[in-house]
Amino acid sequence: MAAYRIGVLKGDGIGPEVVPAAVDLADLSARAAGLSVEWVELPVGLEAYGQLGDTLPPQTVEALRGCHGWVLGPVEHHRYDPRLPSMRNPSGTLRRLFDLYANERPARNLPGVPSRYEGVDLVVVRENTEGFYADRNVLEGDAELLVTPDVVVSLRVVTRRACQRIAEYAFQLARRRARPGRVTAVHKANVLRRGDGLFLECCRSVASRYPDVAFDHVHVDAAAYFLVREPQRYDVLVTTNLFGDILSDQAAGLVGSLGVAPSLNAGDGYAMAQAVHGSAPDIAGRGVANPTAEILSVAMLFEWLGRRFDDPAATEAARRLEEAVGAALSAGVRTPDLGGSATTAEFARAVRAHLAPGSML
Ligand code: ATP
Repeated sequence: MAAYRIGVLKGDGIGPEVVPAAVDLADLSARAAGLSVEWVELPVGLEAYGQLGDTLPPQTVEALRGCHGWVLGPVEHHRYDPRLPSMRNPSGTLRRLFDLYANERPARNLPGVPSRYEGVDLVVVRENTEGFYADRNVLEGDAELLVTPDVVVSLRVVTRRACQRIAEYAFQLARRRARPGRVTAVHKANVLRRGDGLFLECCRSVASRYPDVAFDHVHVDAAAYFLVREPQRYDVLVTTNLFGDILSDQAAGLVGSLGVAPSLNAGDGYAMAQAVHGSAPDIAGRGVANPTAEILSVAMLFEWLGRRFDDPAATEAARRLEEAVGAALSAGVRTPDLGGSATTAEFARAVRAHLAPGSML
């Protein structure tokens, strides 16, 4: 039985509500699947700043190097002072430090979750390390320049290496998905001719090595339109950082709520589970946040461990966790974001009942 070390970074806002719930259920699922996990709680976010003077303390980063992966809760980074190096955004910094280049954000209909569409089952694969995200583009400081008080220049970086590896990730993912896979590259190469032109060129060249996976491409504005008209037409959408951030929130809205949208940030050596949603300050502390996105994100981390270490127990733990969430939702247990009245704890109890029938509820 392999033992995995998984970091637990609760984060801000609803993080301390949804992350412990997700970890507790994931642990139960792991045990049932014969997977041994050591959960290592590490300080991050506003609490870490209050205690240690840093939103991402060096000891947290050091400890993560000794982990196989970790769970990062939402961070309320609009409350951080970007001028202070001790108030870095942990999310972007960890993505860059650990080269977590692929942000995989699935959007599919879940049983019992009311939504405007049926039959949606797509994944947005977002490049995570460059693009228009100013915090990732230079060695020190960030890539937004205040030229005069009224003029800002934001630098976007696009490299062949990053485009090729994100395209590769998308084609591998499409191949793994059950149906005949299709990758759609989303870009704006008609305007951003060089940057998105390079991205599209890389997607095309990777596509030529995957003859079993269909490939097409679409301008980002048209993609937004088609996603609303007919989201069922898409399988894997691969795109640059900013477009992927926007389209994946849109995709979450197509299938119900941000509260059910999971994601994984993956590199070649590490992976970080992180729900798509933010810290939800409007509902934080009330015990009503939906933990589904966080639970399903940990399931994605288990799946990743299963692939990386060729470990069927990790894959099985992921499957059990997903199944239990589906069962709880099908039984009609819903938090307020889904039109129900269950609390975070009540929803977690319902999932627990499916993971360990007969256990103390
Ligand atoms: P941040 O700046 O940290 O991203 P935000 O308020 O801009 O915060 P979100 O935190 O993603 O963005 O919240 C958007 C909306 O979705 C809010 O109304 C929030 O309450 C709701 N929401 C987000 N996550 C959840 C969740 N897990 N359960 C229920 N509602 C949620």
